[in-house]
Amino acid sequence: MKLLMHMCCAPCSVYPVEVLKKEGVEIQGLYYNPNIHPKEEFLRRKENVEKFSALKEIPVSYFDDFKQEVWESFKGQEVERCTMCYSIRLDKAAAFARENGYDAFTTSLLVSPYQKHELIKDIGEKAALKHGVSFYYRDFRPGFRQGQQMAKEMGLYRQKFCGCIVSYNESPFTKK
Ligand code: SF4
Repeated sequence: MKLLMHMCCAPCSVYPVEVLKKEGVEIQGLYYNPNIHPKEEFLRRKENVEKFSALKEIPVSYFDDFKQEVWESFKGQEVERCTMCYSIRLDKAAAFARENGYDAFTTSLLVSPYQKHELIKDIGEKAALKHGVSFYYRDFRPGFRQGQQMAKEMGLYRQKFCGCIVSYNESPFTKK
């Protein structure tokens, strides 16, 4: 299977890549995360995906879209903001997978116990239907800690907040 993995960041990609490669899946990556703010953070996460993908010899397609104002000006509740955020990214992944002949697409977001897992699954399946491509769903969460440990050993940057400017402003870690 030729699988496109939407990579939200390097550490979250480690475990899914590890298990899928062992199973013989051919993985290519997509870095499309216009939700990540501020700019320094966007670039730092991208650089770490470059570092990780070079280590694992995974080709990755990069998009440099940066849309802080969309997240900054969003007026709804958190769950609505995250719905928008997952939808924008997974719609792009589905369209890219369809246009470039992948068998399916997935996302590294499915490894994180801090993300809204069922919402991601639902949005991924809807994007798949819309674009006529398969969504590879799998609950990677049991491997989250292992993946984070491996990321640490590889010297990858492990961020302290989800990604958007709202999560940055709300994080107790970014205030330190
Ligand atoms: S909290 Fe995370 S998932 Fe939700 S909108 Fe912000 S970056 Fe996106």
